[in-house]
This record gives sequence, structure tokens and C-alpha cells, in this order.
Amino acid sequence: MICFELSEEQRAAEQMIRDFTAREVSPRIQELDEKRYFDRSILKKMGDLHLLGICLPEQYGGAGMDYIGLGLVCEELEYVDTSLRVIMSVHMGLNSLTLLSWGTDYQKENYLIPQALGEKIATFGLTEAAAGSDAVGIQATAVRKGDHYVLNGEKVWISLADVADNFLVIAWTDLEKKRARDHSGLSCFIVERGFEGFTSGTMSRKWGITAGNTGWFSLQDVEVPRENLVGNEGEGFHLAMFALDQGRYTVAAGATGLIRACLDASIRYAKERETFGQPIGKHQLVKQMIANMVRDYDCSRLLWMRSGWMKNNGYRNTRETSLAKWYATVASERAASDAIQVHGANGYSDDYPVGRFWRNSKGAVIYEGTREIHTLMQADYALGYRVDKPSRYNLPKYGQSNT
Ligand SMILES: Cc1cc2nc3c(=O)[nH]c(=O)nc-3n(C[C@H](O)[C@H](O)[C@H](O)COP(=O)(O)OP(=O)(O)OC[C@H]3O[C@@H](n4cnc5c(N)ncnc54)[C@H](O)[C@@H]3O)c2cc1C
Repeated sequence: MICFELSEEQRAAEQMIRDFTAREVSPRIQELDEKRYFDRSILKKMGDLHLLGICLPEQYGGAGMDYIGLGLVCEELEYVDTSLRVIMSVHMGLNSLTLLSWGTDYQKENYLIPQALGEKIATFGLTEAAAGSDAVGIQATAVRKGDHYVLNGEKVWISLADVADNFLVIAWTDLEKKRARDHSGLSCFIVERGFEGFTSGTMSRKWGITAGNTGWFSLQDVEVPRENLVGNEGEGFHLAMFALDQGRYTVAAGATGLIRACLDASIRYAKERETFGQPIGKHQLVKQMIANMVRDYDCSRLLWMRSGWMKNNGYRNTRETSLAKWYATVASERAASDAIQVHGANGYSDDYPVGRFWRNSKGAVIYEGTREIHTLMQADYALGYRVDKPSRYNLPKYGQSNT
């Protein structure tokens, strides 16, 4: 049965994040954003609150919450700043939930558990300079040599690239298939920052999510042990798409929080600011913008919650999660743009948060499947051109684990 009422545990998690962000982040987020400064101490604080393992089973060091709990955490974090939710998207969505579903016992013991405990930070590297949407256009390679693989390549636009300890990396293991652009030649590896030949840096000219870290990493003859291959050789593309099903969920829930932040800021301002002898909230065209935000908040929340419910119950949700991600991110960009409009000239300055909301909103319309890629996916599902094939591993139902 679908129930829209939050459990006591979910409500408590929501409140915990509100208290945490009000205390630790809200008072200085505008300054961090302006200084383009990623404050690493936030990771330790999130770890101490068990957020970095929020929906992982307790047997792997997690807090044992369900996937709707993860969505609520993401919504609350992005209500305050997108950079906080991005941490959850890469560390939990793209990386840890993939290891939970596909990892071997060795990988769970050595990587998943330290990640769940917040001792290690994780991210995900697919994108390269010449290939984002077109994943088979990547150039990174992994050549098998005895008991290890030798990885070469460079990934760009990677969240937490200059911060994370563990990286899921997609690279070609079959060079014939690389030439033929056959994605069954791609594989997925766990790479540690400490492996020889690994270097990383921060992309300093990025103009959104500036309180977060985004960067590049380079692999030069990096020897990766064979036991760090995730899944089988040739399953890398499938694994990347699986990871995106989880990452997109966190992005959808986060964008929903951003819409709510735009709505709350707009309501506050619309009641204070007066023109023509009355608060601007009394003007119908301002009401229209606020009403659109209300509509988009509820639609986005219902969509991500449906995905969360499907994840909790072990149903395939690629289509539903794509729809949630597409709708919520596009709606958050619209909400942020309208929030600036409601604020007039004041919205066009950093004296108010809405400019930051707008800069932050744009990234999510691009990453984890651009607006156009999701549009095509939805049309293809509707037309019957796209049908989900069964996966060798699925995200464990809430309360189960893939052991
Ligand atoms: C802030 C930020 C953080 C990121 N974090 C990560 C990360 O942690 N890990 C990671 O691997 N990547 C990350 N990315 C990269 C992101 O996933 C890619 O930018 C995204 O997949 C789009 O790829 P691209 O930038 O190469 O654009 P392209 O793929 O070159 O697309 C350019 C334009 O063409 C359109 N387009 C492309 N193909 C088609 C088509 N078939 N039909 C119609 N239109 C099309 C796109 O929609 C877009 O409008 C991040 C990006 C940003 C901005």
C-alpha cells in the first residue's frame, strides 16, 4: 500500500537535518559560496550524523533507513545548498548503493563499510572531456596484466574529485569493442586516491555550486588489483546506468528541496515588499509565480517519493526515476528564475540567496542525464523503443541486502 504519511523515523531524520543545517551551514553558506570554498569539515559532521550511510544496512555500517529516508535527507540538504546534496548523490547514490548491489564481499568489507561509516568519501567517474551524454565516447582504458589492470585516462567534471578517497571508474577493457563503440567492452573499477599514478585537481572556473568541489582526475598507468573490478568485465555500461538510477533519485529529491527554498524565499519577500501601496504578493502576476512553485514542489515530491517507494519494494524504477529527475530539475530552474523575478533587482544580487539558487539549479539540468536525454528516454519508453532489460543485480529491497 502507498502511504504518504512519514514514519516517526523519517520525520526525525528530516528534523535532524533541519537542525544540523540551521546550526552548521545556513549562517555561512552565502560566504562559502562567494569565496568558492568547499569546507571539508562538513564531511566529518555528516559522517557523525550517520548521513553518509543513511540507507545502507546496519550490517555494512549504515543507519538502516529506507530509500524514502534518503530522499528526505537530500531534499532537506538541498533546501539549504546544492553542494550538500551533491555529496549524497555521488557518495551514496552513484557509489555506495552500487557497491551494495554489485560489490563482492571483499569490496563491501574494504570499501562499502568505511564509506558507510564516513571514514572514506566516495565518488563516480564516467565523464571525460570529449564524452558526457555519449558514454561510449570515453577514452579511458583498463588493460589486464596478470592479477591487476593498468588504467589510463582522464575524467573531468567529477563531483568531489579533489576530495574523495574512493572512485568508481568506467573504462574500456576491450579495445576492439572500443573501436566499434560497443558498450559491452566497458568495465567498472574501484580506484583509490592512494594508488600510484592517480592525480586530481579542482575546476576553479565553475560558476554554480561554488561551495562544492568539482574537478578532474587523471590515471597514468595506475595498477588496480583484479579484485577491484566491480561486476564482470563488460558490465561497466550496465553498472554506470544502474548507478545513475540511484544518483538521479537523489538529484530529483534535492531539486525538490531547491524548489521549496525558492518558494519560501519568494513568499517571505512577497509579503514584505510593497509596490503601488500593497505587498507585491497581492499582485496576480506575482501570485502566478508563487502558485507555479507550489505546483512544481508537490509534483516533484510525489514523483521522487514514488521512485523511493518502488526502491523500497524492489521494483525496477529506471523510467520513474528518470521522470522524477527530469521534472524536478527543470522545475527547480524555473522556480529559481521566478524567485529572482519576485525579488526584482534585489534578486539580481548576492544580498539574497535566490541568485545562488538559480546558479545551483542549472547544474542538475545537465548532470546525471541532461534535460534532453531524459526527454528522449521518456518518449522512447512511451513509443516502445526503449524497454528495460533485466539486471543481474537489483537494488536490495528495504530491509534486505544482496548477500
Ligand atoms: C556540476 C557538475 C557535476 C558533475 N559531476 C559528475 C560526476 O560526479 N561524475 C561524472 O561522471 N560526471 C559528472 N558531471 C558530468 C555530467 O554528467 C555531464 O556534463 C553530462 O552527462 C552531460 O555531458 P556533456 O557535458 O559532455 O554534454 P554533451 O553530452 O556534450 O551535451 C551537450 C548538449 O547536447 C545535448 N545532446 C547530447 N546528445 C544529445 C542527443 N542524442 N539528443 C539531443 N540532445 C543531445 C545535451 O542535452 C546538451 O544540451 C558533472 C557535471 C556538472 C556540471
